[in-house]
Parts: sequence; structure tokens; C-alpha cells
Amino acid sequence: MAHSKLAEFGVKHIAKGIGRLTNEVLESGAGSYVTTTSGRRMLDFTCGIGVTNLGHCHPAVTKAVQHQATQLVHGQVNIAFHKPYLQLIESLLPMMPHKSLDTFFFWNSGSEAVEAAVKLARHATKKQNIIVMQGSYHGRTFATMNMTRSKTIYGEGFAPLMPGVFSVDFPYCAQCSIAKHSDFKYNYDNCCMDPVSKLELLLKRETSPSDTAAIFIEPVLGEGGYVPPPKAYLQKVREICDKNNILLVLDEVQSGFGRTGKYFATEHFDVRPDILVMAKGIANGFPLSGIVSRKELMDMQKTGSMGGTYGGNAISCAAGVAVAKAFQDEKVLENVNARGPELTGMLKECAKDPKTSKVIYDVRGLGLMLALECQPGQNYAARIQAKCLEKDMLILTTSIYDTIRFIPPLNISKEDMAKGIQIIKEAIDEVAG
Ligand code: PMP
Repeated sequence: MAHSKLAEFGVKHIAKGIGRLTNEVLESGAGSYVTTTSGRRMLDFTCGIGVTNLGHCHPAVTKAVQHQATQLVHGQVNIAFHKPYLQLIESLLPMMPHKSLDTFFFWNSGSEAVEAAVKLARHATKKQNIIVMQGSYHGRTFATMNMTRSKTIYGEGFAPLMPGVFSVDFPYCAQCSIAKHSDFKYNYDNCCMDPVSKLELLLKRETSPSDTAAIFIEPVLGEGGYVPPPKAYLQKVREICDKNNILLVLDEVQSGFGRTGKYFATEHFDVRPDILVMAKGIANGFPLSGIVSRKELMDMQKTGSMGGTYGGNAISCAAGVAVAKAFQDEKVLENVNARGPELTGMLKECAKDPKTSKVIYDVRGLGLMLALECQPGQNYAARIQAKCLEKDMLILTTSIYDTIRFIPPLNISKEDMAKGIQIIKEAIDEVAG
């Protein structure tokens, strides 16, 4: 098919329910860049929504996948162990945020892993209800649809949804009337107690602890706007879970694998999850997800009750092993912590500049999970995104508030980061008028 016809063909034959930032057709990717079929090279600060965290076609991952494709493509874990599955667990164990997290099970997508966590929590506690956070995103499958509370579009028209899901406020300091908004330093300890008391009320009014199996939280709210909670908040939730025999499930599908400058975001908060959910960055683009928990909890499920044809696919697991090794070999976390402040530094400068300050409402995030929340009512985020696209750069908007999320590769070079910063700065300047 002629290159010029590809996009038109896609629009005609791909379901409209799948939204898109651009009708460009990607042909290849290398490091921080993607190239389209028309030869347009674009700087990618989306990483396919936080997946290709080590850049496109990372050489070590590609090599591992090529080798695995000559050894074993599909093993099926309900039939036998396969080597890359075991090697992946060996690679992940030292990365776990708590030593109790020692028993794994792998799937293909984040949503499947979240659903597996729901099943485990219900089975292990013999309770039914779950609590999720307002603004959370846990997926779009049948069960996860009702756990996703970031935008109504994900559930609209699809009811009846999975029952037994309750939601409560997440501490969103930038939108909290109690928090003091000054120089991007919120009075975290004060504002976070409001969502804590709302959670306590929920457990008194709507779902009794004796019916509540688990609380699901993204330790940094993802689709909801890249919002890190105060440390005291997550610690308090852990206490509430312990007191009431409720499991704490941390969904690190987006925040995990180095995105926040630590292997898992929960390390910033010193909180032990009962179940940790992971996906996206785990295999740098190959479909792989998983849950990890303590053995005694995982082993409560009846042998044979869990499974799936493709989960823990041999090629994806081999990619995951290569990803874990690259984190060590290439000092990826150090790079995240060096590059993040370069971007936030520029955004905070824009917030002080008399011309661009009118665009900026909040700058926040951890590591390279960074957000720019724009002043409401002017559609600034989408306008900045469109300007960046004109300048050959991909960025993503998010949340019901007018927010941009920046998700560059974790191993982005200083030069590529500087280029990205320059483009974003120009885009902000242009929309400021
Ligand atoms: N949980 C979180 C925190 C996510 O960000 C996502 C995907 N954006 C999911 C779950 C669902 O993952 P998937 O799209 O792979 O099903």
C-alpha cells in the first residue's frame, strides 16, 4: 500500500472507539525518537504511555528477544515451567520494595494483572468489596472499568459494571482547598488528613471492614494527573488496612520500573503493599504484566484456578530479564534523578516568568513521572500538545484537569532532554500569546 494511503486506510478500518493523538504512521523507533512512514522523526516523550522506558528498540532487549525467538517462543505455564519465566523472577526479586514480596504470577496486560489482584484479594480474605481512589485508572476490562475513576468516558454506556467497588478521595494537593498553594510546596501533612478521614467514614458508612477485601491505590496517581500523595497519607492507609484486616494493593503499572526514580514508587513512601501490580515498563514494549505478593497469600488460591494462554510469554520474559539487567548496567535510576529536575526546573521558571505564568497552575511529580497542570478554562494542555507535535515532539495530556504528563525514556540523554525542554518551552511561550 502506498505510504500516502496508510493513514486513510487506518481511519477507515480501525474502530473509532480507539482515540489517537495523531494520524501519523510509525515505522521505526530508536532511543528517544520514532520515525514515521513519511520519514518524519519525532522526539517521543510518551514512551507509548510509559512502556518503552528504556527507549525504542533498546539494543540489549532486542538482542535478548532475537535469541529467545530461536530457543522457545511459547511455553505455557499451565504445562511446564520455562526458563525465561524463572530467570525473570530471579531478576525481579532484588528489585522488590519489600522482602515479603516473593511469589509471582505473570499476565499480558496491566488490566489482567489488576483483575488477578482482585481475585486474589477476594479469595484470600473471603471478603467481596474493594475500595479505589477517585481519579484512579486501573484499566478498561470488565472488572477494571468500574475501578477506573479518572474519567466517566471509560464506563459510560457499559453498565452494569462490576459490583462491590467503592471510591474515596485521593489527596490531590493542587486541587485541595486545605493545601496552601505557594511556590509548589503544599502543606502536605494538613491536607492529606481529609482523605484519610473520608476513608475512615467510608468504612463506617458504606462498606464495613468485615466486607472489604482490599484498597487499591496507585502510589502516584497516573491517568488522574501524575499526583504524588503525601507520605503520611499512604502510611496512614497502611495502618487502616492493618487494623481492619484489609489488603493494600499498590497498582504500579505506570509508576513502577524506575519511572519515579526508584524501582517502585512505593519506596518513596516507605509503605509495604500486600500485593504489587506491575506491567508497562517491565518488558520495554513486549506484552507482560504480573502481580507479586507474599507466598502464604498467593498460595491460598487453589492449584489450577489461575492461568491464561499467553501470560508470562517466553519472549516477553526474556525481554524483562534484559530490562532488569540494563537498569544495573546503565545506571538508569541515576539518569532519571538527574534528568527530572532539568525539566521541572524549566517549568518552574515558566511559572515565574510574567508572560508564561498565566499558563501554569502546578508543576509536580517524581523522577520522570512529571506533570504540568495548566490554568483552567483555556484548553492550554491540548494547545501545548499540538504545538509540540508541530515541532516534531510527542507529549500526552491527562486527567479531567488541564494537565500534561511528561513520560520521556528513563535513559534519555542530556542532549535529548535539552532538546525536549526547548520545544516544550517554546510551545508554552507561544500559547501564552
Ligand atoms: N493500571 C494503571 C496504573 C495504568 O496506568 C494502566 C494503563 N494505563 C493500567 C492499570 C491498565 O493497563 P493495560 O492498559 O495494560 O491493561
